[in-house]
Amino acid sequence: MHCPFCKNEDTRVVDSRVADEGQAIRRRRACSECGRRFTTVETAVLSVVKRTGVTEPFSREKVMRGVRRACQGRAVDDDKLQHLAQQVEEAVRASGSAEVPANEVGLAILGPLRDLDEVAYLRFASVYRSFDSVDDFQKEIDDLRSGKSES
Ligand SMILES: [Zn+2]
Repeated sequence: MHCPFCKNEDTRVVDSRVADEGQAIRRRRACSECGRRFTTVETAVLSVVKRTGVTEPFSREKVMRGVRRACQGRAVDDDKLQHLAQQVEEAVRASGSAEVPANEVGLAILGPLRDLDEVAYLRFASVYRSFDSVDDFQKEIDDLRSGKSES
């Protein structure tokens, strides 16, 4: 890996440790030319398989964008969205698979979003699970009230 400061090609690892509960390796590197140090993070690439079969790298940004729309006008700030996106990533990575279907990412969003804001959850779920009648909403609201997990 090239030094980000002087572009020298020779850098060495001076320290490496497991981070994010085993999901990443953080390495401290030193440049043999300018002597500066920098950190690299190594994680397994997590791919999301869309319905069309196209794969793309998992993106917390994308999760946040999708959820932000459902949170319009609600007391949900970016810190909370970031935390939610992190929970989603951890849940998806916990499946242990390097490739996950897009709908599993959507499912992983539902739980933490319900804990965060029930109105935003209903909005998101209505699109994601394609509610097509008032009855679907009613059922979901009944489930929320009775504290049951979604079916
Ligand atoms: Zn350097």
